[in-house]
Amino acid sequence: MHDLAFATIAELKELLAAGKLSPEELLSFTIERCNRYNPSLGAALEIFKAESISAASPVTNGILQSIPGIIKDNIAQKERSLTCASRILHNFISPYDATVTERLKKAGALVVGRANMDEFAMGSSGETSAFGPTKNPWDTTRVPGGSSSGSAAAVAAGLVPWALGSDTGGSVRQPAALCGIYGLKPTYGLVSRSGLVAYGSSLDQVGVFARSAYDTALVLSAIAGQDDRDSTTLAVAQQDYTATLDGKLPENFTVGIVENALYAEGMDPEIVAAIEATIKVLEGLGACIKRITLPTLDYVAAAYFIISRAEAASNLARFDGVRYGLRTSEADTLKELYCKTRREGFGPEVRARIMIGNYVLSAGHADAFYGSAKKVQRLIRHDFITAFEGVDMLVMPTHPAPAFTFGAFDQDKLQLDLQDYFTCAMNLSGNPAVSIPCGMTSSKLPIGMQLVGPHLGEAMLLKVAHALEQKTSWHTMHPSLG
Ligand code: GLN
Repeated sequence: MHDLAFATIAELKELLAAGKLSPEELLSFTIERCNRYNPSLGAALEIFKAESISAASPVTNGILQSIPGIIKDNIAQKERSLTCASRILHNFISPYDATVTERLKKAGALVVGRANMDEFAMGSSGETSAFGPTKNPWDTTRVPGGSSSGSAAAVAAGLVPWALGSDTGGSVRQPAALCGIYGLKPTYGLVSRSGLVAYGSSLDQVGVFARSAYDTALVLSAIAGQDDRDSTTLAVAQQDYTATLDGKLPENFTVGIVENALYAEGMDPEIVAAIEATIKVLEGLGACIKRITLPTLDYVAAAYFIISRAEAASNLARFDGVRYGLRTSEADTLKELYCKTRREGFGPEVRARIMIGNYVLSAGHADAFYGSAKKVQRLIRHDFITAFEGVDMLVMPTHPAPAFTFGAFDQDKLQLDLQDYFTCAMNLSGNPAVSIPCGMTSSKLPIGMQLVGPHLGEAMLLKVAHALEQKTSWHTMHPSLG
C-alpha cells in the first residue's frame, strides 16, 4: 500500500483503467491515510467524509477521473468552509466553487479536503496559520515552507498526488522546494483567480503541486485557460500540457544561468552544488549554457514587500465583521465593530501587513513607497524581457537554504521576508516558473531549483522538467512517516 501512497497520477490512472484499483478503493485508501497522518503533520484543516466527496463528484470521463487531491484553504469549494487559516473567516462557508475547483471537478478529480496555509497566504513557513502549523514530512522539527504549507506537505507525504496552492511571492515554489516536489506558478493570467481569496491581486496566481512533471502538466491542463469570471485571464484556450513531454529538450535550446542568484551571498553550498550538477544534466541533454545576470534582482524583495502589503491592505478591507465571518460580540458603534472584529479576527502577521500597506499608500507616502516600487517593477519586467532575447529558459535557485526549524526567524523577521528573494521576481514580472526537485542535502533534506520561462512558456518548462526527470531520481525519494 506504500506504493499506492506515492503513486503518481499517471500510475493511478493506469491502475484504474486496468481495473486493478477501483475508484472507491482509491478514495477510501486516501481518506484513511490522510486521517492517519494528518494529526501529526497539520497539512489539512479538514479531511472530508468519503460520502460527501463521492456524492459531489459528477460522473464524467475526465482527465483526472477519480484522482484525489487537496486544495489550499483560500480557494473556494462550494458549501465547504473557506477560512484562509484565519479566525476572521472561521465560520464562513463558500456559496460557490472557484473556477479552478469547478474545472477540477469537471475533470473528474476528487477534492478530499482543505489544506492548511499561512494566514491569508502571508508567510513563508506555515507558522502563521491560526489553526496550528504544518510540519515538514522530511523532518517534523522543520517547516514545510509557505504559504501553501499544507498543500506541499500533503503531496510530499503521499497523502494525495496533487494539490493546489496560490503563489503571490513564491508560496507554491518555495514549499515545493522545501518538501522535495514539483511546484508550478503559471504566467499571470493563465489561470483564473475567480474564487481565490485575494492577497495581492496583481501578483496572485493559483499553482500546482505534484510528484512528477507529467502530473503537474495534467493538473495544469485541467485548470488553465481564459475565464469570463476573471477579466485578467489571458485569451488562451484550455490545452493539453502533457502532449509535448517526450523526454527531450526543445531543439537548439539555450539556458541562461542567473549567476547573481546562484552565487548570491548566503547560498548554501550544497544547494549550489546540486544546481550545478543539474546544469550538467541539461548540458548532457543538449542544452547550450549561457551565464547571465538579472541586474535588478537586488531590488526585487523591497519592491515586492511594498506592493504586496499595499494590495493586501486594500483587499483585506472587506473583512469588517459586517458581511463575512467573525463579528465581535461587544461593540457600541460601527467603528468599534470594525476595529474590534479586525483585532480579534486577524493574527499578528496579517495586522502588521495591513498597517504597512496602509502606510505605503497613505497621502504623502504613496509616491515615495508605492510609486517607487511600481517603477522598480517595470525595471524587473524589462530585465526578464531582455534576458529572454538571448536564452529560452532561466535557471535559478528556489530558496537559498533547505527547510529551516520552527521559530528560526522569530528574532529576525527581515530574514523571513527575504525567503522570497529568488521567487517574487516572477510574480512582479508575471513570468511562469516551476520548482523541481534537484538534490538532497547530507542531512536528507530536499533541494529544489527553478526553471523560469517567458510569458506563457509553461509547455516548454514542463517539457524540460520532464526531460530532467528522466535522467535523475530525486522525484522518486520520499519521506518515511514512521
Ligand atoms: N512569503 C511571501 C509573503 O509572505 C509569499 C506569500 C505568497 O506567495 N502567498 O508574502
